[in-house]
Amino acid sequence: MTQHFIVIGNPIAHSKSPEIHAQFALQAGIDIRYQRQYCPDDAASFTAVIEAFFHGGGMGANVTVPFKQVAYDCCAARGGLSEHAKTAGAVNTLMINEALLQQGASIKEAIYGDNTDGQGLVNHITRLGWPLDGARVALIGAGGAARGVILPLIQAGIGSLTIANRTVSKAVDLVNELSAASSVIAAQQIQTCATKDLSGTFDMIINATSIGLSGDKLPLDDALHCQYAYDMMYGRDLPFLQHFEARDAQTSEGYGMLIGQAALSFERWTGHTIDVSKATEALSQNT
Ligand code: NDP
Repeated sequence: MTQHFIVIGNPIAHSKSPEIHAQFALQAGIDIRYQRQYCPDDAASFTAVIEAFFHGGGMGANVTVPFKQVAYDCCAARGGLSEHAKTAGAVNTLMINEALLQQGASIKEAIYGDNTDGQGLVNHITRLGWPLDGARVALIGAGGAARGVILPLIQAGIGSLTIANRTVSKAVDLVNELSAASSVIAAQQIQTCATKDLSGTFDMIINATSIGLSGDKLPLDDALHCQYAYDMMYGRDLPFLQHFEARDAQTSEGYGMLIGQAALSFERWTGHTIDVSKATEALSQNT
């Protein structure tokens, strides 16, 4: 039987998720239909779209910009949130909480939210062979993407974490908020500073800002060094990576994170584990 999935966003035409999930389905040997779903940018429309989708027999939905926080609020008031969704403050994966259905909840009361973005990053870094255990990590950015990767990075065993942001108060607020929400995060010493003041040697520096969209460059100190540099953005020239390539670091853009988070969503929905390296290779041959 064909299983139905969607990715909801605005805009949505550019999304690569249907191709990625089609590749996963091929690997898993199952029949799926995965479509892009445009939605007007307001919470009422989002809720109406997802309720109609799940009422119509939909198995799972991905959520992208600008609905990740709306999806969080929606699931918090309905079928619940995973630990990763709670600490991320955002949902990128929707499904039905079957346990609630069995307890008599209606479908709309059982819509449940998870967040696989941060684990997708950790999975990609692991596939790259970059060691995380004990690593001294600097994370640049304090927005939604940075927030979602903090718990998975700590769970992966990093040694220390410094969060740098253009607006330092946002980094400080983020650390305070997440430490109050999660004992795992509270147990980790997290330093904060302004991006321009980030200095010294790290094992890994991760760019979780949206600066690449504007083509501007981060103010990176000459005394800032790392062995591995990762930019969550992908598919364009990335001055952040060029900066560290010129200083002999190994670098990666974030397309593998996108595939990693998609694979985890697919696994949550279908129970099929994906060989992400194999899927990535097949996808690169198709483009
Ligand atoms: P947000 O808007 O929530 O946060 C933006 C962050 O970028 C803030 O820390 C902001 O700093 C910083 N920033 C923006 N412009 C500048 C600038 N000119 N100079 C310095 N800092 C700047 O965005 P998200 O966190 O949601 O997304 C960040 C990036 O991560 C996006 O590019 C997105 O595409 C990417 N991403 C990639 C994923 C993947 O699968 N590969 C998954 C999720 C996100 P300040 O607080 O000072 O404003």
